[in-house]
Amino acid sequence: MKRRFFFRFISYLLSLPLISSCTKVPVTNRTQLNFVPDKWIRWISDKYYYDYLDDNFLIQDVDMYNRVYDIGLKIQLAIKKYFEIKKLDFSKYNLDYEINVVDDKRNLNAFAMANAKIVFFRRIVEFCDNDDQIAAIMGHEMGHVISKHIHERISHRFTWDVLTLGIAEIFAELGFFLPWSRKQESEADYLGVVFMTLAGYDPNEAAVFWEKLYDYQQKVKKYRSNPDLIVKIKRNLPEFTSTHPFPENRSKKIRDWAKEVNNEFKDYI
Ligand SMILES: [Zn+2]
Repeated sequence: MKRRFFFRFISYLLSLPLISSCTKVPVTNRTQLNFVPDKWIRWISDKYYYDYLDDNFLIQDVDMYNRVYDIGLKIQLAIKKYFEIKKLDFSKYNLDYEINVVDDKRNLNAFAMANAKIVFFRRIVEFCDNDDQIAAIMGHEMGHVISKHIHERISHRFTWDVLTLGIAEIFAELGFFLPWSRKQESEADYLGVVFMTLAGYDPNEAAVFWEKLYDYQQKVKKYRSNPDLIVKIKRNLPEFTSTHPFPENRSKKIRDWAKEVNNEFKDYI
């Protein structure tokens, strides 16, 4: 009896920090586990972000950069607008966004880090049919940041071994290589729809973008089995599709949300 009480007491103690470490994702209100201090994750993300920029060329095409930067600015203003409409405290989400475009024509990619640094690759900008599709990626990536998905991933994975991980693993944990969970991916889709709508873009284009990306991924898979094309395909490996899995019925969900969100915010668009 005493023994059982002892174990119950210990498990209670162990659960305390976990309960107190749960936070709510703004917009979707989902409870998530997050006990990674902002300061720590900002420090480590900055380190890897600036190292990454040192190793890669930024585009010299001013028009392309300005196009992506302006879309980013509009999405940031839309996020602020969302917090004002919902009367939520924005102070913790007033992040120091930075947007860069790297001159990489081979990888179809974009990523966001927990320190609100967003990187687009030239190839993904050229892959988009219009500004609305770039806004869809931007809203989606900022959705991962606002939802603190990297904090959540590290919190789930956190054991003492995180502190002893090698550089490659930490780099992966920070959002470069590991796929988001389908739940996080759907959440970023929803936030993306909300933010791009409030920024004045057409959220249905997000569905078009993901459909186009899915078709592209299928083609790459098909050709990958052809040994003559292996080298070519390796050079063009679409990283974005490996870090951003396709949740079920993605396009349908996005189109349904687009209708809902357009209706909910019609007075603010
Ligand atoms: Zn994503």
